[in-house]
Amino acid sequence: MSQTVEQLQDLIAGPVLAPGDPGFDAETFTFNTTVNARPALVVGALDRHDVAAAVRFAAEKGFTVAVTSTGHGAVPGGMDGALVINTSRLKEISVDPQARTVRVGAGNRWAEVVQACAPFALMPPAGAAPSVGVTGYLLGGGLSPLGRAFGFAADHVHALELVTADGVHRRVDADTHKELFWALRGGGGGFGVVTAVEIGLFPVSTLYGGTVFFPGQQAADVLRAFRDWNDDRLPDEACGSLALQRLPDLPHLPEPLRGRFVVALRYAYPGDPAEGARLLAPLRAAADPILDTVGELPLTEFGAIHNDPAGPMPAWDRGDLLPALPDEAIDALLTAAGAQVADAPILVELRRLGGALARTPRHDNALSVRDAAYTLFVVDAPGAPSGSRLFTTMALWTRGAGLPTMRGEAPVATTPETAARLAEIKKTWDPARLLR
Ligand SMILES: Cc1cc2nc3c(=O)[nH]c(=O)nc-3n(C[C@H](O)[C@H](O)[C@H](O)COP(=O)(O)OP(=O)(O)OC[C@H]3O[C@@H](n4cnc5c(N)ncnc54)[C@H](O)[C@@H]3O)c2cc1C
Repeated sequence: MSQTVEQLQDLIAGPVLAPGDPGFDAETFTFNTTVNARPALVVGALDRHDVAAAVRFAAEKGFTVAVTSTGHGAVPGGMDGALVINTSRLKEISVDPQARTVRVGAGNRWAEVVQACAPFALMPPAGAAPSVGVTGYLLGGGLSPLGRAFGFAADHVHALELVTADGVHRRVDADTHKELFWALRGGGGGFGVVTAVEIGLFPVSTLYGGTVFFPGQQAADVLRAFRDWNDDRLPDEACGSLALQRLPDLPHLPEPLRGRFVVALRYAYPGDPAEGARLLAPLRAAADPILDTVGELPLTEFGAIHNDPAGPMPAWDRGDLLPALPDEAIDALLTAAGAQVADAPILVELRRLGGALARTPRHDNALSVRDAAYTLFVVDAPGAPSGSRLFTTMALWTRGAGLPTMRGEAPVATTPETAARLAEIKKTWDPARLLR
């Protein structure tokens, strides 16, 4: 292997590391600490030339290529035996406030992009956690806490630059390589190694958001109020999700939440705070809040809507989609994860869909399932039985498949036509299946 490393080092400006080399583990960091990544080699690409050279080298020497950036989406086996290209060093951000677009390097995280856009009162379709990377999120569709207002993040990708399996760096947009452009927006990875993206931005001068925490014992009332929230007349801008959470007894949490089972109602409204508060009022009144953090937020504080964990953790997760949430489904959910269940999952989350998420964008993309009413996402301790038990209990009301970025161990929700079209595009652009 040392000869292979030396050959590759001659071609690459960034670090080339083999297992055991100092820095190797940091290059293959995984947010989920149960994923034990075992790549053959890692290339820390400094620019698109490094990416292209690494792809060509892998093809020549018979490696498959895996890509990592932040490690938030790493899955068991995803990097094993592969030549891994780490794109986290490909950072660049340039905002065009007139065109309301931003050009972003493949290695940037949402926190950095939001920070750069906020001075112009512009907001990208960022995910819940500031530390999530732009590229993996966009390739899988990307569901923002502001998703009902914005649509899926992939709906707002204007162009991507990537190295395809033939080692050529290309720009792909609605006019150039249209099929590939369709696949890259929501079709997941495996079509090329992205080096930069251009995405649309939304004018947001004020953001009203945060979380209302209720006692877990009142979950049934909060769930029903959430389901009935303005029925079909809820404006697209009113974005919400609800999470049953078993919170640890730790000092970084506000005192009233420590060690408690809570229902966290997350809310985001990109507009006038008074109107945002008016729309939230029926949910605030659904039960007796323990803590209410909803208020005017600087755009850069968007992470405070969900308060996702910032650091790595061991986790089992699985996602699904629900076409509706009838009373029977709420009862089943609480049978599996309510206050009386001693070993209930750490997190059971429902995000309300609809609004702009349900509409096909001007340039159609590979996100073919837009008719669901809610996402269901469950995080549990590795090996704990309660997470899978919940999906068995909920089987009557779930689709059995999830959004690409929020499915965990479940399959991707797609249509047979979309799956066939993606397979055809993969055959055209990567016939030897070089890219994972
Ligand atoms: C705490 C947390 C919060 C989250 N919140 C949300 C949310 O609100 N909404 C949502 O939709 N998702 C969310 N996710 C899921 C997240 O969007 C996916 O895990 C996504 O894949 C992460 O992308 P990444 O680039 O950060 O991760 P990485 O692990 O670095 O990459 C994941 C995959 O993306 C692909 N990829 C990454 N970079 C490139 C590249 N340069 N070229 C080609 N392929 C590439 C590869 O297939 C790679 O395996 C969350 C995840 C976590 C851990």
